Amino acid sequence: MTITIASDFAQLDQVIATVVAPGADAVDREGRFPRTSIDALAKAGYLGLISAKEVGGSGCGIAEAALVVERLGQACGSTAMIMCMHYSATAVLEAHGTKEVREAIAGGRHLSTLAFSEVGSRSMFWAPLSTAVVAGARVRLDASKSWVTAAGEADSYVWSSRPLAAAGASTLWLVPKGAEGLSAAIPFNGLGLRGNDSSPVTASSAMVPLSAMLGKDGDGFNVMMGVVLPWFQVLNSAMSIGLMNAAVTATADHMSRARFEHLGQSVAEQPVPRSLIAQMRVRTDLARALWQDTIAAITAKRADTMLRVLEVKLAASEAALEVTDLGMRICGGAAFRRESPIERHFRDARAAAVMAPTSEALADFIGKAVCGLPLF
Ligand SMILES: Cc1cc2nc3c(=O)[nH]c(=O)nc-3n(C[C@H](O)[C@H](O)[C@H](O)COP(=O)(O)OP(=O)(O)OC[C@H]3O[C@@H](n4cnc5c(N)ncnc54)[C@H](O)[C@@H]3O)c2cc1C
Repeated sequence: MTITIASDFAQLDQVIATVVAPGADAVDREGRFPRTSIDALAKAGYLGLISAKEVGGSGCGIAEAALVVERLGQACGSTAMIMCMHYSATAVLEAHGTKEVREAIAGGRHLSTLAFSEVGSRSMFWAPLSTAVVAGARVRLDASKSWVTAAGEADSYVWSSRPLAAAGASTLWLVPKGAEGLSAAIPFNGLGLRGNDSSPVTASSAMVPLSAMLGKDGDGFNVMMGVVLPWFQVLNSAMSIGLMNAAVTATADHMSRARFEHLGQSVAEQPVPRSLIAQMRVRTDLARALWQDTIAAITAKRADTMLRVLEVKLAASEAALEVTDLGMRICGGAAFRRESPIERHFRDARAAAVMAPTSEALADFIGKAVCGLPLF
């Protein structure tokens, strides 16, 4: 099924209302991968949203994908992050993947993800230590990947290693889930995004064909910065904005329902909580405005695109920390006792700032850009 986003939001909202939102609490409590949600999104055409029409996809771009992830983030942070990673990987596969994998994604039969972060280089994903070595007609991969969203559930990983032979920091590969020598054995038990299955993946003499290389040997860094970075930054921000919107709604709902019976007033009738929820709304809308401007910059290929791309995730993830913290404070004991969904949004919102490029790394890059220094 292909999607024209303007006319198909009703369909997305239907999937969210009937499958994603009702399952979100159990996904969080049980730390369970939202398989039913991903399957429903696949069936409705959303795995193939950004796949080209020539391979059977919907041919939509970053603006549409961002709106999808934002809407998912309002209902289930885990599902939103899985789709963020799937679209970020798909952008690479659309540029460098085979027709076969592109068609599988377009047809909703293939979920992909990014396997960049490593135990050795931690959040500095642009400097992998893992290796790729020619072994006869194939390539042997050895790696200790520290975090891979949907590690045990994705059909493939867009994988980084040091180059085979070329100069450069890295080379990218398409590694199928079942490749011999791969293991994703440790179950994910996170503070937030608990359905994300963000487990470590190790490759111990994992074998892939040479044709699994994505782009040229040694060109991984350029693909990471030129293709992955804009998608990841915008879609990660979309999840944060979705979570913030959900937090504002949950907080307003609590404020209207919770009452001081002896005063005959709701919490919403108290000026201090009202002032705090106003801050939540303003922080959310500021982040969303920058996010929309970033999408506009990317779409129009504006000169300030890279600066906006760097700024947007820093702004959105830091705002999400503040907004959900304010929500926890306003909802008080009810939030602390997990009587309100705000507590899930609060935990889910902790992830974005530490996802690479982390807020600290982005601040340093932005500072370098503003001062006219090279980023690397
Ligand atoms: C839910 C979740 C899902 C993820 N999914 C994926 C995925 O699908 N694929 C993938 O490749 N990765 C994924 N990651 C990994 C993520 O992108 C980061 O690589 C990881 O969170 C970094 O954690 P770390 O503790 O190893 O970072 P560290 O490098 O140890 O950093 C820890 C903290 O110290 C700060 N810090 C480090 N160095 C400096 C410095 N020089 N100056 C100032 N501050 C510094 C960082 O900013 C950060 O806040 C995921 C992470 C999370 C939380």
